[in-house]
Amino acid sequence: MPRFNESRRRLLQGLGASSTVLMVPGMAEAAKATKQPRGRVVVIGAGFAGATAAKYLRKWSDKGIDVTLIERNAEFISCPTSNEVLGGNRDYKTLVHSYDGLRKHWGVKLVRASVTGVDTEKKIVRTDTGGSYSYDRLIVAPGIDFMFDQIEGYDAVAQKTIFHAWKAGPQTLALRQQLEAMPDGGVFVLSIPKAPYRCPPGPYERVCQVAWYFKQNKPQSRIVVLDANDGIVSKGKLFQAAWANEYPGMIDYRPNWNVTGLDAPTKTVTSEVGDTFKGDVLNIIPPMRAGDIARQIGLVNVNDRWAGVNWTSLESTAVPYVHVLGDAVFAAPQMPKSGHMANQHGKAVASALIEIFSGREPRPMLMANTCYSMLDNKQGVHVASVHRYSPEKQVPLIVEGSGGVSNGPSIEEGRYAHGWAIQIWADTLT
Ligand SMILES: Cc1cc2nc3c(=O)[nH]c(=O)nc-3n(C[C@H](O)[C@H](O)[C@H](O)COP(=O)(O)OP(=O)(O)OC[C@H]3O[C@@H](n4cnc5c(N)ncnc54)[C@H](O)[C@@H]3O)c2cc1C
Repeated sequence: MPRFNESRRRLLQGLGASSTVLMVPGMAEAAKATKQPRGRVVVIGAGFAGATAAKYLRKWSDKGIDVTLIERNAEFISCPTSNEVLGGNRDYKTLVHSYDGLRKHWGVKLVRASVTGVDTEKKIVRTDTGGSYSYDRLIVAPGIDFMFDQIEGYDAVAQKTIFHAWKAGPQTLALRQQLEAMPDGGVFVLSIPKAPYRCPPGPYERVCQVAWYFKQNKPQSRIVVLDANDGIVSKGKLFQAAWANEYPGMIDYRPNWNVTGLDAPTKTVTSEVGDTFKGDVLNIIPPMRAGDIARQIGLVNVNDRWAGVNWTSLESTAVPYVHVLGDAVFAAPQMPKSGHMANQHGKAVASALIEIFSGREPRPMLMANTCYSMLDNKQGVHVASVHRYSPEKQVPLIVEGSGGVSNGPSIEEGRYAHGWAIQIWADTLT
């Protein structure tokens, strides 16, 4: 990975969470100068991808496009920074954000319901509350769901006591409580699925946060990381250095350890080659795939897990007039499943639909990503990249020399990490 330097820092700041100008030059002006685009869009899922798409469709169409956003949860709960709750470095309440800004500032029609089906011929979305919503274009942004069936014994009963905490919410608090209840000298076991999964550096940040908590409160305790991958998936050298320097002797990292079995009562996991490991607190992150509703609509057409899209418009390659965003998508090469990238997908689809509703061809867009990780209570590191559409390959590819990783941890980057979170929540939701 190239080293981070000042010119890259400036480029990435320009492509940060609040920047829309570089991604779609002249978009708002173009929309105003020509006839105001009109159309009906229904969005399923108000996470980073869906909420951003809903907001920017309204904003860039000068409120000409009618947007209905259907979300099953009452509030937005942020996965980014949720590992800090596990480390005791953040109040859970700071993860929770209202959807009111989307309604009040942008006139997005918010519906609290779970989508149960879509008639893609008649273009109608149905919900568990009996609602039905017609669309010209549908956006599906349901995030991920877990493949519990890949781990024998991780059934509905086991899921009541063994948590993944890979969707922020009640499980974040429940896992924190288990860590608090664990006696000093106990063993915390974290299992990581084979990539691709949501947030490549996230599990390793979690290791740091739990290690920080143990170091302050339970210094005899150990962390065992069972990683199905053959090495640390993101920011490897930075995490390894942090583990060695800040938490010496505490972390036992085992690559190529794929958890395929669980015995919840004895808190024992089994690998695909029959190795076993027992812990005091287990945190099992199962393999994942596009959210269930994407599968139900028939959008999942890659490896039986992800939804393929045309990268000029994020329109599904399986079902016309339906666009898929965020973690549910079969990602372009080296494109992470992240909140920042989901936010960029949201802007890209808003841009594309405004073009389409204006009778023009959608234009490929530049997308950027930065993922910060907190190594303790103060120090942060990042990985960043910029992705540009390649007409030859028909996918976005990393712009050579555009990104990279931190030289090393710093308190300054810890501050940037917290600033990034505040900015992306605001950009997505208000
Ligand atoms: C511990 C952790 C740390 C992370 N840290 C970072 C970070 O620092 N930076 C970063 O960029 N990313 C981070 N991520 C990744 C980031 O959270 C995800 O990539 C991002 O949430 C994906 O956005 P999304 O909109 O695709 O999915 P989501 O945010 O999951 O949103 C999907 C929404 O759809 C809704 N939904 C699903 N199905 C239905 C249905 N049938 N009807 C109605 N609603 C439905 C869900 O309720 C949900 O609100 C982290 C993830 C984790 C787990």
